[in-house]
Amino acid sequence: MLDLKQLAADLFGITLTDEQLEQFDTYTCELLEWNEKINLTAIKTPQEVLVRHHLDSLSIVLGAEIHPNTRVIDVGTGAGFPGLALKIAYPELDVTLLEATGKKVKFLEHVIASLGLQGVRGLHARAEEAGHMPDQRGQYHLVLARAVARLPALCEYMLPLAKVGGRCIAMKGATAFEEVEMSIEALRILGGRVDDVVEVKLPTVDEPHWLILIDKLRETPAPYPRKPGTPTRKPL
Ligand code: SAM
Repeated sequence: MLDLKQLAADLFGITLTDEQLEQFDTYTCELLEWNEKINLTAIKTPQEVLVRHHLDSLSIVLGAEIHPNTRVIDVGTGAGFPGLALKIAYPELDVTLLEATGKKVKFLEHVIASLGLQGVRGLHARAEEAGHMPDQRGQYHLVLARAVARLPALCEYMLPLAKVGGRCIAMKGATAFEEVEMSIEALRILGGRVDDVVEVKLPTVDEPHWLILIDKLRETPAPYPRKPGTPTRKPL
C-alpha cells in the first residue's frame, strides 16, 4: 500500500498535514466518480491516482522554488494535474487552471468548492486566447503543463503567459530530449531558454519522466501565440 505522506516527504521533502491528505483523498474520490460520466483520466484505481497524478504533480518542486504568493498557471490542466494537486500541497500559491474543455472546468470548480480552497480558479479558454488577455499575458512566475502538446507548440502556449524572469516547466516522457532539439527556433522567437532537464523517478512507474525547465529571458513578441490551432498545425 503506497503512502502519500511518506512518499511526498521522502521524494520531494514535502510535509503534508492530515487535512491536506484528506483533501487529496476527496480529490481522488471525486475524480473517479466524475470519470464515470465524463472522460477525465485513463487511470482507474486510487493507488494509481496517488502515484501518476498526485505524486507526479508534486515532482514540480524538483524544478522550481515555491514561494508564498507565487503566481502559477497550469496550461491544459484537464482534471487539475499538476496545478490543483500542487495547490493542495502549497495552499499559499495563487493558481490558475487553464482548460479548453468546459466540462473539465466544471469538474475543477466542483473540486475547488468541495475542498474549500481559496486562491485557485478555473479559466475556460484556449492557451492561444489566454496568451493575449491583458490579465493573463506576462503575469505568471511559474507556467506548468503536462501531456498537452509537443514542445514547440507548448512553448508558444506557455511563454507568453510567463513574466520575464519567470519559469515554464513542461512535464515530458521518453521524447523529452528530442522535443528540446525540435524547439530551438521556437525558444529563440518566443524569448525562452532551456535551463535544465531533470529526471523524475516515481515508485511503480517504469517509463522515464522528465521536467524540461525553461526560463523566460525576454518579452514574447506581440503576434504570439498565433490563432487557435496554428501552434500545433504549423509549429515554429
Ligand atoms: N494536464 C492534464 C494531465 O496531465 O492529466 C491533462 C492532460 S490532457 C491529455 C490535455 C488537456 O489539455 C485536455 O484537457 C485538453 O482539453 C487541454 N488542451 C489541449 N490544448 C489546449 C489549448 N490550446 N488550450 C487549453 N487547453 C488545451
